[in-house]
Amino acid sequence: MSFVPIKLRDYVRVHLKANPGSDKREVTARFRAALTRYQAGERCYCGEPIWVIGSAELGNTCFTCATGETDPSEDYEIAEACDKYSAATLSDPACDARRLRG
Ligand SMILES: [Zn+2]
Repeated sequence: MSFVPIKLRDYVRVHLKANPGSDKREVTARFRAALTRYQAGERCYCGEPIWVIGSAELGNTCFTCATGETDPSEDYEIAEACDKYSAATLSDPACDARRLRG
């Protein structure tokens, strides 16, 4: 179980492609703010670390609460937030390795 790590800058590009009307600066600010909340230790109401990408859209939420799924293996997460599972109970060395390489 691991996210696909992606740099914030790269994810903004993915997001803009899917949402052509969006403003790049506004989108970047939104993801950056969610990442800041993650790094500040904010959590989903269920107690899990937040999923930065979903939280930028929905407010603080973990992946499971946002999507109803438990396996994020094909979903993106901002690389800086991929340490959430090693910091918590589940370790995610694949995500860490890719983050270090990227
Ligand atoms: Zn949750």
